[in-house]
Amino acid sequence: MRCLLFICVLLGAAQSFALDRFSVEGYQLPNGLQLILKPGYERGHVSIRLVVGVGMDDFSCADQQLPHLLEHLLFSGVDDSGEGGLEERMQALGGEWNAYTSNADTTFVIEAPAKNQRKILDLLLSLLTRTQMTDQRISEAKQVVEREDGGHYSHLQRWLDRQDLGHSASNQLAVELGLKCAERAEVHNLTRQQLEAVRNTWYAPNNMTLIMVGDLDRLLPAYLERTYGALEPVDPSEHLPLPAIEARADTERTLVRGVVGETAKLHWLLPEPVIDDQNDETWDLLRDYLEWSLYNELRLKHGLSYGPWAEREVFGGVSFLSLNADLARDDVAKAQQVMGELKQRLLKDGLDPQTFTRLKNAAVARQAWAVQGNSALADYYWSALGDYDGGRFADPSKRLQAVTLEQANSALRHLFAKPGYVRIEKPLFSYNGLTVALAAALSVLVLMFVGWRIWRRRTR
Ligand SMILES: [Zn+2]
Repeated sequence: MRCLLFICVLLGAAQSFALDRFSVEGYQLPNGLQLILKPGYERGHVSIRLVVGVGMDDFSCADQQLPHLLEHLLFSGVDDSGEGGLEERMQALGGEWNAYTSNADTTFVIEAPAKNQRKILDLLLSLLTRTQMTDQRISEAKQVVEREDGGHYSHLQRWLDRQDLGHSASNQLAVELGLKCAERAEVHNLTRQQLEAVRNTWYAPNNMTLIMVGDLDRLLPAYLERTYGALEPVDPSEHLPLPAIEARADTERTLVRGVVGETAKLHWLLPEPVIDDQNDETWDLLRDYLEWSLYNELRLKHGLSYGPWAEREVFGGVSFLSLNADLARDDVAKAQQVMGELKQRLLKDGLDPQTFTRLKNAAVARQAWAVQGNSALADYYWSALGDYDGGRFADPSKRLQAVTLEQANSALRHLFAKPGYVRIEKPLFSYNGLTVALAAALSVLVLMFVGWRIWRRRTR
């Protein structure tokens, strides 16, 4: 109780100080619910994020939609007034809500007027505890999830996915390497028992973090202890291990995209070796450096691509850094050559110290204005939960500063030590190619017709 009082005083006082976005009032309720409270920038408004530690990666390929389906089901109503009644109650409180299921978590995202924050938290709590999973509601939620995924999963779409035609280049590679499920997970086989099991095993206070940023109610800590503090904890479940690279993939492949067109995309995907210190920051800086190099080479010097880009993406337990360019389809080989030369030059000379410092300073400077307003701050805490410890989030600008040129050079050498994977996306035919193919097909038809005429005349 003494602790609560202290937090109440702090919450009141903190608003008058300049905002240090990395320090928060963070503590755990006795039932294990992690709270992150931050008096924010704007008055009269509160951003709420309830992060539940269950995502698609916690289930096998066939059952991957379970947490997503449950997320939708939780909006189906807490009494006989159903989904519409629930929405009406939120409207009456002047708030807005949504939810997202990712590979790693399920998060309820709410923007609320400050004066109704406790009533809105009540509504969120009733949705978690009082939703009735009737067969009718389950089948309606299934329809919604199916529609979100682009409608019914037809035989044709499944066939296209199996032929790698339905995936983006990086997703296609991830499937080939065994890091991602090949087919879209379906919902129609999922049962009420499975959904109840997910709610009972994962939707527990000791698997949740409640983030609140903004004009916080002074009585909030006591309120939270009385309400959310009454949720029953469960024995924690183990997350499934993330898949590692298990299969071999072709080093180079062309993926057909559409029937006819003059453009192509070149992707060169490289698995990032894990570095001991400042892993993410080092790769972020290298991404910036490589993107700048691509821009210099492919756009400014060679005029091959308007907006080449470098990107980081995670599949299963593996992170990839990719170099990408949108090109004219005849320029693919030339762009590959330019990228190859860039690699050779970087391996020989290392990173240019001046450019590296300039880009590092820019990345550090960006941290000063990257997160603006209550909602962005709440989203930031959500994305950075892995960097949270005892009331503080790690300061990315300090970690960026700590990356040395030597570290970045060594990471770059490790990155380029393996050939990586090249994926070229282009339509089946160019317009010229299609014209030739059509002309050829037409000639064949004409020849067949003439042959048939001659044959008819001879046999008459
Ligand atoms: Zn959804």
